[in-house]
This record gives sequence, C-alpha cells and structure tokens, in this order.
Amino acid sequence: MIVSRFAPSPNGPLHLGHAYAAIVAHDLARTRGGRFLLRIEDIDGARSRPELADEFRRDLEWLGLEWEEVAPQSTRLESYRAAADELLQRGLLYPCTCTRKEIEALKPKLGPDGLVYPGTCKGRLIDPARPAALRLDMERAQAEAGSLTWVDELAGEQICDPQQFGDVVLVRKEEPASYHLAATLDDAADGVTLVTRGADLFFATHIHRLLQALYDLPVPTWHHHALLLDHEGKKLAKRRGSPALSDLRERGEDGLLLAQQLRLQRLPSGISLGKP
Ligand code: GLU
Repeated sequence: MIVSRFAPSPNGPLHLGHAYAAIVAHDLARTRGGRFLLRIEDIDGARSRPELADEFRRDLEWLGLEWEEVAPQSTRLESYRAAADELLQRGLLYPCTCTRKEIEALKPKLGPDGLVYPGTCKGRLIDPARPAALRLDMERAQAEAGSLTWVDELAGEQICDPQQFGDVVLVRKEEPASYHLAATLDDAADGVTLVTRGADLFFATHIHRLLQALYDLPVPTWHHHALLLDHEGKKLAKRRGSPALSDLRERGEDGLLLAQQLRLQRLPSGISLGKP
C-alpha cells in the first residue's frame, strides 16, 4: 500500500507552496488507495513554535485534506540518539567542533547543499570543552554500503552519489539529529513507501538512501514534485511576501476552491510552477 506524507517544520506559517506539497502528497496516496500522513518536524528546538502545528492542522482541514497524524519529531529524540550511537560504535561518525566561521575561512568547495566540510576534525583529538557535532565519515560509509541506486517516480532511477556532500552532520551541536538523520529514520518508522516532497530536496535523497543502507531500512520510492516559484523564479517563502494560508483562511477565502485550483495548476498571478 502507498503511504505518503507531508512533513512541515513549525518554524513559520504554511504558504501556497506548502499547500501544493500537501495536496500532491495527499492525492498521490488517495488516488492509489493509500494512506497520507502528517508529521510535524519540530526537531529544531530554537526555531520551532509549537502553536504553529495547530495552525497547520487547521490549514490542511481548510484545504479539504484528510490525514493520519504520526508522532512529532520532538517525541522521537531517543530513537535518534540510539541510531547515532550505533553509527558511532561502528566508527562511521566523528565529532567535529568546527564553527561555521572556521569552515568558511578554509574556503572549501561548494556542494549541492552549501559548503563541503573539508574534514578538519576527522581523526583529530578534539577539545572536549567545545560543543561537538557528529559528522558522517562519508568515505567509510560509502565503502560499507557499496553502490546504491534510488528511484524517483518522475526522474527515474538515480545512481546514489552522497560523496558530493562530503562529511555531513548527522547530530547537530544543539540537537540529537540533523534533518537527514531524523527524516530518514522517521520515514522508515512511519512505514512511508512514497517520500513526497519538493524538488529542492532531490539531492538530499542521496544521503538518505545511504543512511537507509547503513541502517538496513526498507527503501521507499521518492516523488520530488515541482516547486511553486515567485515572480523572480525563487521558491515561495513567507519572508519573501508569500501570504500565509492562515491569513487567507482568516480572510474568509475558500480553501476547497484554492485546493482545486492548485490541483489544476491554475496559479495566482506572479506564481509559476518550476521543473520537478
Ligand atoms: N520538514 C521539511 C521542511 O519543512 C520537509 C522535509 C521532507 O519532506 O523530507 O522543509
């Protein structure tokens, strides 16, 4: 059975881009007789605003969607710790005390997700007084996992290439998991078979596929949908003037009509659909 999900982070209100993402994930499951899950990704303690999760539920209801809600990330911290510990025991993680500034000063190359960590802390004794993140030793991890592929419903089969990201952070200094670790573990724990999300996270899937291999998790299929773009061709964002769904809702706009229009890709003026 198809199980898809919408996994918003409550660090800002949902906007039209989120509405489109939720509708795509919902409809992909519903049209195939599957389940559609809502998972609140409230792992970022400093930026998460718990009251937003309720707004999200009201927004989705307003759009006419039905979902099953699974446990929010903030209740799963133990599972992230245990999983990180396991990789640490296997020698696949190493502590890193570098700050962003220190990394920038080394002028490392740029990967698909920002600066590629040059491996400064790998194999070095770190100062135990400084806060440390845990990074994946990408070379060792890839050697252990062997060659992998993954399938996006729209883009087809992909050769898994996580090396381009370098040694990514799996445990952040202030949180027990990074997005990559938490999302991968949660999708497996929630039985997600079709990971549906925006094309901006297409590359992150290389990392997630590697983590699935390391933890021997079931491998879903992915569906990276096109993003809604503003008049400058940039991803919609609240801070760039995209109206919050909660504002539209409170203004009395018709959510069901909006959902229908998004389904038909009839977009408000100034907004376009990018490439998947
Ligand atoms: N929580 C992520 C976000 O709001 C979504 C991650 C995902 O769908 O994998 O961007």
